[in-house]
Amino acid sequence: MSMNREGRPSRPEAAEGQTTTFTGNRALMLEEPLIFEMDEADGTGLDFESAPKVQQRLGGFERIRPISLPGLSEPQTVRHYTRLSRQNYAIDLGLFPLGSCTMKHNPRLNEKVARMSGFADIHPLQPADTVQGAYALIHELGRWLITLTGMHSVAMSPKAGAHGELCGLLAIRSALEARGDARSVILVPESAHGTNPATAAFAGYGVENIPATSRGRVDLQALKSRLGPDVAAVMITNPNTCGLFEPDMIEISRAVHEVGALVYCDGANFNAIVGRVRPGDLGIDAMHINLHKTFSTPHGGGGPGSGPVVFSEALTPFAPLPFVEKQGDRFELIEEETAGEHHGQTFGRMTAFHGQMGMFTRALSYILSHGADGLRQVSEDAVLNANYVLRELDDVLDAPFGASGPCMHEALFSDKGFGGGLSTIDVAKALIDEGFHPMTMYFPLVVHGAMLIEPTETESKATLDQFIGALRSVAERARAGDQSLKAAPIHAPRRRLDETLAARKPVLAYREPSQAEAAE
Ligand SMILES: *Cc1c(COP(=O)(O)O)cnc(C)c1O
Repeated sequence: MSMNREGRPSRPEAAEGQTTTFTGNRALMLEEPLIFEMDEADGTGLDFESAPKVQQRLGGFERIRPISLPGLSEPQTVRHYTRLSRQNYAIDLGLFPLGSCTMKHNPRLNEKVARMSGFADIHPLQPADTVQGAYALIHELGRWLITLTGMHSVAMSPKAGAHGELCGLLAIRSALEARGDARSVILVPESAHGTNPATAAFAGYGVENIPATSRGRVDLQALKSRLGPDVAAVMITNPNTCGLFEPDMIEISRAVHEVGALVYCDGANFNAIVGRVRPGDLGIDAMHINLHKTFSTPHGGGGPGSGPVVFSEALTPFAPLPFVEKQGDRFELIEEETAGEHHGQTFGRMTAFHGQMGMFTRALSYILSHGADGLRQVSEDAVLNANYVLRELDDVLDAPFGASGPCMHEALFSDKGFGGGLSTIDVAKALIDEGFHPMTMYFPLVVHGAMLIEPTETESKATLDQFIGALRSVAERARAGDQSLKAAPIHAPRRRLDETLAARKPVLAYREPSQAEAAE
């Protein structure tokens, strides 16, 4: 195998028993170089030659050096990106079992609505008179989120779950400071998503862990014994990241409020309880909602997202600006100048403008097309599907909390019982060869070699059966210590990558090869 610059293999290795092809391609899975490596000196997708008149008009400010864009024709460019897209995996290709991420089907109706020009072709600085429909949509979506969560108000502007966490903690910090009681510590359960402690630290707090019980829940006694006048808030995910409901939530909120602290809920798992449980009834003070999870707006590859935050009455005065308010028949955007005394204590703003309009449009379209009963069905089916996966596989995979009853919307397994030094990663890589995106691995941290599977409500029984069959066959090989799993994936465009090196020394920019390298 040849190595090109940066030590990147220029062709996939042949798996055992396979021969390489002349091109490096495998059937219709095409090898693709970097676009810069396809550069041809005279290649261009444009028809006109140099434009002397334009150069004259630039008055001596024209570029003196080429800008190093690769020279390719239009068909070369189209093929390049289409080939790359075929090496990717997407929710539109198949089941995407990533736990915690709620990768579910994005109904096309929502895409149609989001592309309507009255929503898509507007600008955040347009006069209020010209965007009344868009304001009405933001207001209506906010009203649904308040109703579904049983909370008092909503901030629509945060742009993702983690951004919503920060928004919630900033409101909590402002509320505590306003009463002259700045506190220093935030308590976070061991099983929390990494964004929770990161957000707390970013907001300037010390972070302390609360242990979990052997049943995968927050240890109520340990939490109570740590509560005190230095604790600003507790951040709790419910259902938690083990896929389990926290049955002591009301008791937890009561104890937290008793010491003058506040309750932040990570609402990323709202998909499991929407229409059935209102977090406001559980004593929550602030919670983000990932529209790109529960309300099916598309996500992946780093964006886009939307993380509105709902607040209790106590925190409402501290919520960020701007927000949309209905005044008679009109909708107004409330900013610093127009904020009344109810909002005089706002901590500021999270974003330049109102938030992710395209996601709002899709989410409201999703909510209205399901209705309240339909949303309840969503969470019930999500929980049913996860329990089907849990029970169909718990004879070949260890389910650490399986004995304590049904799960919520995700099934959690561990690597206990694997033979021959095999681990979760070997199972995940083998799933790629079976044509599935791997599940979430090694998270939550409270379970050894965790495999977290969230099938979501949008998968049919036939699809689940196929996935279960594939995972069952891989799990049986793992239990038998089948060493061939260590070579997986063998059918993917790339074999197993060095993930540590890729994370610690990522090569993110193309560099021209030096003459010596080029001569090699
Ligand atoms: C997805 C997720 C987050 C972070 O949300 P983003 O929208 O990715 O920023 C936080 N907590 C949990 C439990 C999650 O699943």
